[in-house]
Amino acid sequence: MIVSLRMFRIVQENTILEGNFMIRSLLIGAMGLASVACAHAQKEDVPPTPFVIPAENIATSQALKETALKSDLALDIITDLTTKVGPRLAGTPQEEKARTWGVEKFKELGFENVRVEPFELDLWTRGRSVYEEVTLTAPYPQPLYAISLGGGAATPEEGTEASVAYFKSYDAFKANTETDVTGKIVFVGDRMTAARTGEGYGWANRKRRDAWIMAEDRGAVALFIRSVGTSSNRFAHTGMMSFPEGRRPNIPALSVSNPDADQIERISATGEDMKIRLKTFAGWRGKSMSGNVIGEIVGRENPEEIVIIGGHLDSWDTGTGALDDGAGVGITMAAAKLIADLPEKPRRTIRVVLFGAEEVGLVGARAYAKERMEDETLDNHVIGSESDFGAGEVWRFGSNVGADALSAMDAIGRELAPLGIIRGNNKSGGGPDMMPLQAAGVPMGRLDQNGEDYFEFHHTPNDTVDKIEKSELQQNVAAWAMFTYLAAELDVDYRAGREEE
Ligand SMILES: [Zn+2]
Repeated sequence: MIVSLRMFRIVQENTILEGNFMIRSLLIGAMGLASVACAHAQKEDVPPTPFVIPAENIATSQALKETALKSDLALDIITDLTTKVGPRLAGTPQEEKARTWGVEKFKELGFENVRVEPFELDLWTRGRSVYEEVTLTAPYPQPLYAISLGGGAATPEEGTEASVAYFKSYDAFKANTETDVTGKIVFVGDRMTAARTGEGYGWANRKRRDAWIMAEDRGAVALFIRSVGTSSNRFAHTGMMSFPEGRRPNIPALSVSNPDADQIERISATGEDMKIRLKTFAGWRGKSMSGNVIGEIVGRENPEEIVIIGGHLDSWDTGTGALDDGAGVGITMAAAKLIADLPEKPRRTIRVVLFGAEEVGLVGARAYAKERMEDETLDNHVIGSESDFGAGEVWRFGSNVGADALSAMDAIGRELAPLGIIRGNNKSGGGPDMMPLQAAGVPMGRLDQNGEDYFEFHHTPNDTVDKIEKSELQQNVAAWAMFTYLAAELDVDYRAGREEE
């Protein structure tokens, strides 16, 4: 438990750990060490027996797949959520409305033990307008499309106008401490590149996380960054900044759409004095409430053993949160519902959790894990996984289980293969909201999605339900239904073979 507790502390210390990328970088390090150590533990001089899934379970998982590939349920759920609730920023009345929606939807679909687990959080909102007032005033006046980053401050009522100190990258800004940025607007570049794994995000996101600290410490009046996204539309990408040791920005921090960032780069190259005027209304608004919405399919033999799946219910305030993370909500609710419709419930309980306040720092996920540590039910969670990377096809099945459970995961992987899914390694993260559980030792499964175009829409006004391709969504539901059913049904201890720490 030493490594686990230490990891949990790391999770707690990082105010913002969003997306799948940081999770990997954090967890692979520590969890990976443990699994490598286990995998090579030699026991006896006998060949290993591959795990065999009983024929009736294979037949059931095949039937689930066939049903899922024809089912409209996930798309119906996402459409309903984004139409009737829309944006659902953590801690706002919109998020509360989403919780009411979640409870009703779970009940309508026949889930059991439907409930909300509330928790408190610090509320940040954009203020009066989604579109802040931002204008390039010199040398070539024209409007700019920019948006406050989560956690940023407001300008004075009359607004702010200042010259731009241009830095082509996060590293350039960090390295160049000679340039006086006092009274200026700091602009930081760095362009994100698209990849199936979304791996370009973490690197490009460094400027969003903590460039505000350097800018503020060096006397800047505002921070502007190039959008952390791959879109060439004039939609700027928002997202929460990091707040080490609880420090909060006193300056506005904004993200500029890619075409507008290009404009700033071109003007900067001329060497002329560039000025921007801005008016923003963002700020922290004290305490508010959020909550995790839970629904279950109670297991027929071991109801106390839990397979936990889900997505997050909150979204950014600009789009309707269809991909992030209406998709995860729809995929996991639909997969569980298909399992609930089987003639016989699986052996263990399937718990679907729609986490609150993920985008603002995994607040719901931490509240969930903390409660289970306190009431000592954490070890009842036999395996977990979250869907939070849009609605692109699943292409890889990863895991993070004990060495003795690997053969069973490989067997599940073979069942998933006809869906075009390859077997990944055993060092996977379970998704953002699974981080606190994983850090505390809960085994994980992972259905990696194709994120090639995810950052075209992610955290922008363009994250809307029309971006979802139905056949890809159906493939997701098929993979999730099969994985979840088998995880809940098979007689496997997913922790087996892990070294006690
Ligand atoms: Zn998300």
